[in-house]
Amino acid sequence: MHLSRRADRLAESATGRAARKAAELRAAGRTIIDWSAGQPDFASPEVAVEAARRALAEGFTRYTAAAGTPDLRRALAAHYAERHGAPWTIDQVMVTVGGKAALFELMMTLIDEGDSAVIPSPCWVTFPEQVRFAGGRPILVPTAAADGFAIHAQPVIDAIEPETRLVLLNSPCNPTGGIIAARDLRRIVEHCAERGIVVLSDETYERFLFDGREHASAGALAAEFPDTVVVVGSFSKTYAMTGWRIGFALASAPLIAKVTAVQSHATSNATSFAMRGAEAALTGADDDVERMLAAFARRRDLLVRGLERLPGVSCPKPAGAFYAFPHVAECYRPGRQGSLEFAEALLEDAGVAIVPGLAFGADDHVRISFACSSEELEAGLERLAEALRP
Ligand code: GLU
Repeated sequence: MHLSRRADRLAESATGRAARKAAELRAAGRTIIDWSAGQPDFASPEVAVEAARRALAEGFTRYTAAAGTPDLRRALAAHYAERHGAPWTIDQVMVTVGGKAALFELMMTLIDEGDSAVIPSPCWVTFPEQVRFAGGRPILVPTAAADGFAIHAQPVIDAIEPETRLVLLNSPCNPTGGIIAARDLRRIVEHCAERGIVVLSDETYERFLFDGREHASAGALAAEFPDTVVVVGSFSKTYAMTGWRIGFALASAPLIAKVTAVQSHATSNATSFAMRGAEAALTGADDDVERMLAAFARRRDLLVRGLERLPGVSCPKPAGAFYAFPHVAECYRPGRQGSLEFAEALLEDAGVAIVPGLAFGADDHVRISFACSSEELEAGLERLAEALRP
């Protein structure tokens, strides 16, 4: 069978793979602690479920406009205006099949063969793959554990080359929890605006910052730099709605029109009744979000405390998102050399599913999602302690 070159060099997403293997072992009867995919264990907000149910009962089951329902797009514009002072109106908003599709379609719209995209690293497994899929070249800019993987402006700016079409930021960051300060974000956006480069800001974890930290949204700079700032977001993590597959993009009207044209040939609209549910979540589920944030903060503390006690493991407290990204290279030994073997061994021997750091560009680390119950965290820590006993 002939495969396209672009598909041929693509492997299954490492996060998806880890979650799939955990599910397979569970189905085979093993008790697995699943710390793999980033997926809140909370139920979707009742208001969202009710609104979607109502939409189905009313027969709201047909195609909508490719860019999504006007109501949800208007609600998203209002939400960004209120939270971040962003100037976007309905024709600058589109709804997508999860944040992943928004990113994919933006890459396909902005990147030509031979172009490059600058991405702070470690980064989410899907970013470099999508850039390559579009024919581009990811340029990874290291961030460091020593300062909590904070994203600094200067190294990002220094990495930009004449072929660079976009800078892809993700704060809080999956997998590190690192964040960008407002002044660094402004410097990057200012610099990119001068050079005609897009700043694509994936703000999927924007509601999950800990210890009173505030999220710096690129949306706050959109009025000043309308052609530079693009924001992508998702209902998946914020509202525990992963399976609903609702994400969105906010950008200039001409760019949104073009990405919508791409979407019209890819997925058409996102699911009609799921958009009704998303709209209800956006306007009526703030308490659910606050509850989740408080739970994630407690779980983060529990997990990091437990990890720090393990010999050879060091783990700074992540500033945001719901992942710990411990340094575990001191625990490597024959049969567990590197994060791939280490993760494999943990799953086989201890029944704990994690994602190898290599998938995010950091082989000395592994990623642990703490979007699971405290009981699971405690049980996983016990298994980890046992598996790492010399
Ligand atoms: N974004 C989540 C993660 O990193 C879900 C899986 C995926 O889409 O990668 O685990």
